Amino acid sequence: MELNEFAARLKKSRAVVFFTGAGISTESGVPDFRSPGGVWTKYQPVLFQDFLASEAARVRHWQLKKATYELFKTVKANIGHYAICEFEQRGQLLGLITQNIDGLHKLAGTSEAKLVELHGTDRLVTCLKCGKPFQPADVYEKWHEGLPTPTCDSCGGYLKSANVSFGQSMPVEAMRRAQDWSEQAELFIVIGSSLQVQPAASFPVIAKRGGALLVIVNRDPTPLDDIADFVYRQPIGKFFSELLPLMADG
Ligand SMILES: [Zn+2]
Repeated sequence: MELNEFAARLKKSRAVVFFTGAGISTESGVPDFRSPGGVWTKYQPVLFQDFLASEAARVRHWQLKKATYELFKTVKANIGHYAICEFEQRGQLLGLITQNIDGLHKLAGTSEAKLVELHGTDRLVTCLKCGKPFQPADVYEKWHEGLPTPTCDSCGGYLKSANVSFGQSMPVEAMRRAQDWSEQAELFIVIGSSLQVQPAASFPVIAKRGGALLVIVNRDPTPLDDIADFVYRQPIGKFFSELLPLMADG
């Protein structure tokens, strides 16, 4: 299948599902997990069990998240994030499933009703015990190394960035919505994900099995390229700048 043909199919669909990974945000300046020099090479992610068990691990969590918070203050949504918003505005978007915790889809304007953040978000801090939400700015501006790690002002529970940490269970409701959208999708479009992390990588398979057209836009090959109807291996910005004019025609 060529881009033209895909664009023609896309124009007619009212049930488009996007699935995004780190690749969509690298063009906003969010370093990939493995990029050298990124915050993730400086601070190792903390396992959830360790976070619960040790103050030293909680300090490492907050060091990493504070560095991430400083980085996220500077990054902005890009053409990819905004292009997906246009699908929602045209009534074509069934849902957007993202593996990213940078919150850029929400900042670009995708509504809560159409968005599943599979791995949670770094744009919120919550209490692990009572669930009370806190604005990250309030927490990060107050905390620095040497102070006890943040706790809830209502119940005394540990606060934690609202991302899903390694070892922490996947959010049930988010998984269910992602599953439903995958089953109902007419077009399922993967953007910037290497599709190597489960359970995320199972959604394109569910969509394909349900009869969806599967499109994979990623710089590197993925394990699901063989079952995709269209594979695009160039920058994501380039993909949308070629696709959008074709969508606008006639
Ligand atoms: Zn609490």
